[in-house]
Amino acid sequence: MAILRFQALKESSHRKPIPFQEPARRSEIFAKNVFGEKAMRQFLTRDSYKSVMDAIQNGSKIDRNLADHISTGMKEWSISKGATHYTHWFQPLTGSSAEKHDAFFETVEDGSAIEKFGGGALVQQEPDASSFPNGGIRNTFEARGYTAWDPTSPAFIFGTTLCIPTVFVSYTGEALDYKTPLLRSLQALDQAATQVAKYFDKKVTKITATLGWEQEYFLIDSALASSRPDIMMSGRTLLGHSPAKGQQLDDHYFGSIPSRVLNYMKEMENECMLLGIPVKTRHNEVAPNQFELAPIFEEANLAVDHNTLLMDVMEKVAERHHFKVLFHEKPFAGVNGSGKHNNWSLATDTGVNLLSPGSTPMKNLQFLAFFVNTIKAVNDNEELLRGTIATASNDHRLGANEAPPAIISVFIGSQLTEVLDELEKVTDGKLSPQEKTELKLNVVGKIPEILLDNTDRNRTSAFAFTGNKFEFRAVGSTANCANPMTVLNSIVAKQLKEFKEEVDVLIKKKKMKKDDAIFNVLREYIKDSKRIRFEGDGYGEAWEIEAKKRGLSNNKSTPEALKIKKAQSTIDLYESVGVMNRVEVESRHEIEVEEYALHIQIEGRVLGDIARNHIIPTAIKYQNVLIENVKGLKEIYGKDFKKYAKEQLMIIENISNHIEKINSGITDMIEERKKANKLEDSEEKAFAYGNEVKPYFEIIRYHCDKLELLVDDEVWPLTKYRELLFTK
Ligand code: ADP
Ligand code: MG
Repeated sequence: MAILRFQALKESSHRKPIPFQEPARRSEIFAKNVFGEKAMRQFLTRDSYKSVMDAIQNGSKIDRNLADHISTGMKEWSISKGATHYTHWFQPLTGSSAEKHDAFFETVEDGSAIEKFGGGALVQQEPDASSFPNGGIRNTFEARGYTAWDPTSPAFIFGTTLCIPTVFVSYTGEALDYKTPLLRSLQALDQAATQVAKYFDKKVTKITATLGWEQEYFLIDSALASSRPDIMMSGRTLLGHSPAKGQQLDDHYFGSIPSRVLNYMKEMENECMLLGIPVKTRHNEVAPNQFELAPIFEEANLAVDHNTLLMDVMEKVAERHHFKVLFHEKPFAGVNGSGKHNNWSLATDTGVNLLSPGSTPMKNLQFLAFFVNTIKAVNDNEELLRGTIATASNDHRLGANEAPPAIISVFIGSQLTEVLDELEKVTDGKLSPQEKTELKLNVVGKIPEILLDNTDRNRTSAFAFTGNKFEFRAVGSTANCANPMTVLNSIVAKQLKEFKEEVDVLIKKKKMKKDDAIFNVLREYIKDSKRIRFEGDGYGEAWEIEAKKRGLSNNKSTPEALKIKKAQSTIDLYESVGVMNRVEVESRHEIEVEEYALHIQIEGRVLGDIARNHIIPTAIKYQNVLIENVKGLKEIYGKDFKKYAKEQLMIIENISNHIEKINSGITDMIEERKKANKLEDSEEKAFAYGNEVKPYFEIIRYHCDKLELLVDDEVWPLTKYRELLFTK
């Protein structure tokens, strides 16, 4: 192992940037490998083209007869681009994308062969569902599952394979993936939001959720990463003493990007361009070797697919540049972790961003309606939002001493706070003409100017309004964005439905004018959701105490945070908007608690192995050197030897002490693992892993890290933090 470390260091120190020539204009290669509108016009018949566009825009079904034409057109386009295979590309609940490649190639009776891709193969396939997580659906229902084409996300060519985005469902129709509930939630949101938008503009017929994610990640030299079994097996360092210099100088953030990294980014972004992923921004992040990438926002379903695809592209391109990408939320203790901010908004088919104030008081009232309803939805479902982003790896950010915290709160900035404070004072019942004029001119009417010079930038809030969108910041860097998006769409859909009902009641029963009714309902919502608004520093003890008083949840561990996901209230919510049924909700919870326990189990095994088989033997080796030294001193100085061997003797004792703590820690941890493994109930098991097994990680790590400081660097087996983090 020690040899591996030094080999890796040598290898990494000789690296040169791998050249990559970018095209002069990205626009010229953008979406070249996507079967989008342009390619469809060229390769499809008029009828086929129209039916795909109709499916995309209006969700209509594609005629089975046309599917054959479409698949043939797709095949011709793919072959013209050098593709040889096709696959249904889907996102099972494993967290990464899945694909099984089939060749276009087929033999015919006369012994010759042709390239074939029929409509059947485009529309539906049957992968073996039993090898993917299904949380018990398989036991209750049919074992089989199938993938079905999602025409709203265009097919693309990756490498030499035509990838067709699909949903993955069980034979009885239960969702087995991330995309199915997402699509349902988008539909629910469209329906509810369109009804509300019609109060303000009758021409609106469709509303889409928009998503712009920001992906944070670390890049580590691949040789160095390979020298660390913990990074290879669990995606993070399970031990390692923090370096003398970390991020305290803030000299990495927005600094110049190292050339090896820049070349990697160029090639990776080039791939993104070809795949139609509209990446736009790149920069260094806070921690050393941490970076961020953000695209131009897109319709949420497409944006989710693009993020999943991006993570795949990033890993593949990294290999060529001798990097390993770490998506883990906390790969290194003591330095910043990684998140994936989800910027979310609503767009109408008339081209309006509903979370962006407009040029007239009416448009601003529309803005306020969607703005306040979103805040209300978050207020009423804060615990569910927290549950949605709970994973073993994200626990290292949320709930640990890092922003954002495990408490969900909404930051809106001081000026919008003032606006809501004004609206809270609106008269109960019908508004006088003066009051309405005053409101429209001086409160609602002022919003655009306010937002233009709104400079308050809060960095710690889990859910912040940033000018023309909400930014869900607590999402982890490994997450599939479909999860948080599904929840957000669902809770806002439900909220908007209720809002419409309440406003209509006031209009019909209380004979109020539309504006009066809207102001009245919004006033109550503002009052009801006050507790979720927080403008201060979103982490630390003071906020935790305050949040508790406000009745906000603060679930620090994943098993705790996941409880709400199978609560009756959650099942009711999802059923009310048609996003998931009880079986789907419960199976997802089951998968998530299982996945949590497995995650901690793997980390525990890896840590035990490294500590016992690498660290302890190394410490003993070094201790023997010291013992030899002390023996020698005794030989020379006789009785007086202690005068010269005092420090060595102390180190010898220290080493023994640390070894003892590590070894007994591992023994106890294994005992706890055994006990946990015996538990039948997955949730209990998850709690046991979290509460009984995981605490040993810190104990074992602490003593290993102390040994790292004591033991001769020349024999230390594990590549150190300073080497991992500062190699450029
Ligand atoms: P930052 O938050 O870092 O200051 P920006 O405000 O420019 O940066 O945007 C960050 C992200 O927000 C980008 O990914 C961008 O695409 C996304 N974004 C901007 N407007 C919207 C919108 N209307 N809907 C969804 N995402 C958006
Ligand atoms: Mg941001």
